[in-house]
Amino acid sequence: MANSIKVSLDEIKKLVTDVFLKQGCNENNASALANTITKAEEDGSSSHGLFRVPGYVASLQSGKVNGTASPKLEKTTPVILTCDADNGFASTAHEFALPILANAAKTNGVAVLSIKGCYHFAALWPETEYLAKQNLVGFACTAFKPSVAPAGAKKAFFGTNPISMAWPRNGQDPVVFDMATATMAKGEVMIAARDGHSLPDGVGLDENGEPSNDPKEILKGVLLPFGGYKGSAISLMVELFAAGLIGDVFSYEAQENDNNDGGPPSGGEFIMAFNPQIIAGPKWEEHCGNFFQKLTSIDGVRLPGSRRHENRSGDNYRSINEELLLKVKSYL
Ligand code: NDP
Repeated sequence: MANSIKVSLDEIKKLVTDVFLKQGCNENNASALANTITKAEEDGSSSHGLFRVPGYVASLQSGKVNGTASPKLEKTTPVILTCDADNGFASTAHEFALPILANAAKTNGVAVLSIKGCYHFAALWPETEYLAKQNLVGFACTAFKPSVAPAGAKKAFFGTNPISMAWPRNGQDPVVFDMATATMAKGEVMIAARDGHSLPDGVGLDENGEPSNDPKEILKGVLLPFGGYKGSAISLMVELFAAGLIGDVFSYEAQENDNNDGGPPSGGEFIMAFNPQIIAGPKWEEHCGNFFQKLTSIDGVRLPGSRRHENRSGDNYRSINEELLLKVKSYL
């Protein structure tokens, strides 16, 4: 079992802010990244918190990512918004463009935000939950580099291609799902390899195309989509939305352009916001509230997102892998 140490969320935020400032980010970019990482640790999403710092730093050190990015927004129509991320991390583009997307959806009922030329290395729930907290329904997806074999294949072609949806609820936490379309996010497989855990059946194949439960062997081979051909179809949809529809790169193109420094590749993100007040009318909240009430009254059911929300309501300390913490501190 790996050694871990308790660290407060305030210390985590200060540490990563200082690391990113030292590694060439300006204050705006360092703060946006630190918010993303601290939120992941707060929610118990360790594969997208401090664990990602070495990759973020590598992409700053190699000059791939612009640590002083200043995103810009273009409105093609009142509801079609395109954010040029200025070659920066997705977090900076989110802090800039999500409020504009939310306002467009509140006024018009629906709005689409394409983020182009960004580097996304994080969970997606922060962007969809931001929208749900403004009484909007949020949807987001992004592609990556090939690491998942399409149904029937043994060779990687799709990214782990996460999708997230968040649904607002009156006076309660939104319902949020946020998931890789691979059976498991690659970061989770990397953590299992680091900590010496074996994986359940169906996560991936080794380099010879044989099913494996060993995360180290799967990292040499390929991940599989969740739910066979059905997950493969959703992953295909993510490629089309986050690349084809918004005019950014597919996973295989991201791979061709990437310098393989260990950080994320350049790519796009597709985000949509819907205003249920305009689409369904004023009774939507009560109607959906009844639906959630009936759903959760079924024995064994829990709402997606509830684990993260419970983690959030815990104390201010999180268990962090000691070796990882030392590595992050070494960037200061
Ligand atoms: P999980 O399989 O851990 O969880 C997927 C979703 O299912 C979560 O919303 C989770 O809610 C929900 N869930 C889990 N168990 C239950 C249950 N028993 N009942 C109801 N809902 C449940 O996530 P993944 O490993 O697929 O992905 C982890 C993260 O990796 C995601 O945040 C994703 O965005 C990120 N990612 C990012 C990539 C990128 O390129 N930026 C690429 C791939 C993944 P809860 O959180 O409450 O457990």
